[in-house]
Amino acid sequence: MNLILLGPPGAGKGTQATALCERHGLLHLSTGDMLRAAVARGDELGRKAKEIMDAGKLMPDSLMVAMIEQRISQPDCKAGFVLDGFPRTVPQAEALDMMLAEKGLKLHAIIELCVDEAVLLDRIRKRIEESGDAKRTDDSEETLKKRLEVYREQTAPILPYYKAQGKLAQVDGMQDIDNVSRQIENILNSAGGRPPRAGVAPGP
Ligand code: AMP
Repeated sequence: MNLILLGPPGAGKGTQATALCERHGLLHLSTGDMLRAAVARGDELGRKAKEIMDAGKLMPDSLMVAMIEQRISQPDCKAGFVLDGFPRTVPQAEALDMMLAEKGLKLHAIIELCVDEAVLLDRIRKRIEESGDAKRTDDSEETLKKRLEVYREQTAPILPYYKAQGKLAQVDGMQDIDNVSRQIENILNSAGGRPPRAGVAPGP
């Protein structure tokens, strides 16, 4: 089973992806984590990623597509994966469709975590308070606001792209973690036919 979790920064994609992978034995593929690993290594990619991430902007599509293509070609991805943070632009979504088709792989579901921006700001403030020295360098209110703007402008257009394919399902990401997990499981359990819909939040 191959899944995509979509939603703005702070929507809970990472938390839900981790839980989903534990429940279903899938691999969690987070492009943000891959980039943070590069930043920690301090190589050329890491230096570039740090600058872009701290500014709340997006890395170039070609680089991110190559990173994911390389990763999903590894044998461990055969068990299935959850994409978290990719795709983030329509060209990335198109490139993903092409690479999956070439590999004979399918997306089982694309799940959008729908949340309120005011709640996101609160969540990020909390994440900053709780993380102390381990805080992500892109966890600041200013960066979050920029990331939300980038999400609206560059990532949200993915939603109609997947909706047109009849693959987009939405959950109410304002609920607590267990409730969001239950909504996601309902989507995964629902048999084909109509596009699944578990949440209450309206579509884009
Ligand atoms: P995340 O942990 O998914 O919120 O990602 C943190 C940052 O990494 C983002 O704000 C972007 O700067 C960068 N990033 C992660 N994934 C992508 C992607 N698919 N395309 C472009 N930039 C990305």
